[in-house]
Amino acid sequence: MSFFEKIKSVNQQIILPILNDGDFKIYIKREDQIHPIVSGNKFRKLKYNVKEAKDSNKDSLITFGGAYSNHLLATAYVGKKENLKTLAFVRGEELKNINYNSTLQKCNDFGMKFIFISRDDYRKRNEIDYINSIKNEFKDSYIIPEGGTNEFGVLGCEEILSIDDSFFDVICCPVGSGGTIAGIIKSSNDSQKVLGFSALKGSGINNVITKFTEKENWKIFDDDIFGGYAKIDSRLVDFMNEFFKNTGIVLDPIYNSKMVFKITKLIKSDQWEFGKKILLINTGGLQSVKEMNIKLKNKGCDIIKY
Ligand SMILES: *Cc1c(COP(=O)(O)O)cnc(C)c1O
Repeated sequence: MSFFEKIKSVNQQIILPILNDGDFKIYIKREDQIHPIVSGNKFRKLKYNVKEAKDSNKDSLITFGGAYSNHLLATAYVGKKENLKTLAFVRGEELKNINYNSTLQKCNDFGMKFIFISRDDYRKRNEIDYINSIKNEFKDSYIIPEGGTNEFGVLGCEEILSIDDSFFDVICCPVGSGGTIAGIIKSSNDSQKVLGFSALKGSGINNVITKFTEKENWKIFDDDIFGGYAKIDSRLVDFMNEFFKNTGIVLDPIYNSKMVFKITKLIKSDQWEFGKKILLINTGGLQSVKEMNIKLKNKGCDIIKY
């Protein structure tokens, strides 16, 4: 049985004391429970990419990412499970000469090989000429774009929602490269609203989404991200720890915590106009907590409890 057939997650109701209006019904989809170290949504995006690689008789996967990328880790893991070699083009030439961080170390343990490239080269990662030169050099490899976001990645993310989820007025999901939300939009009902919470500011994500779907029942927020991608402060740490105390669920510091923070802020300030039956997609990403806590400790800040 393929590893991908085992992917399932459940909806769990959560009670947040700060939202003391009893009318709200908030559920969280536990995509974070798909695997203990690898993010749920990254498996979703790899499912049909791996099938395509195998159908076209490739024996390895090539992909792109930064040194802390959940996508690299998922690719390394899946490659090992599915008997495909893995090679990553990693942003940052300087990393060649230093010890692997914990993400790259885990990727390495799963057999992934790395090519460290300059930031200038990394910027070319989606250019056709650059991709073709890689294809020429690695003829037996299947190339997956950064974050796993392509038509196959989106197809896998269409499986996140199930028929029962038509109960909800609104579906909320964190956004990086846009593939996850694109799949969710495609499988949502027209009467539902899909809200995306971007981890990056001004990322041009709307253009990515409209490449994959013509539906218009969605909206992106990118205005409350604590100063930028992977930035954090004590307000967010306190919020995450409070959320953990109330629900028993650990949110990751890069994506899901900022999403839930923004949603509670909108509701508390009466700016929530999207209905009271809310489904939050918890995409996981907990491997970044450890790394983040090292940074927080060095700055003398409170750390994320888990
Ligand atoms: C990659 C990632 C996302 C963003 O998904 P995209 O499809 O790239 O938008 C959200 N949450 C976590 C934990 C992730 O690792």
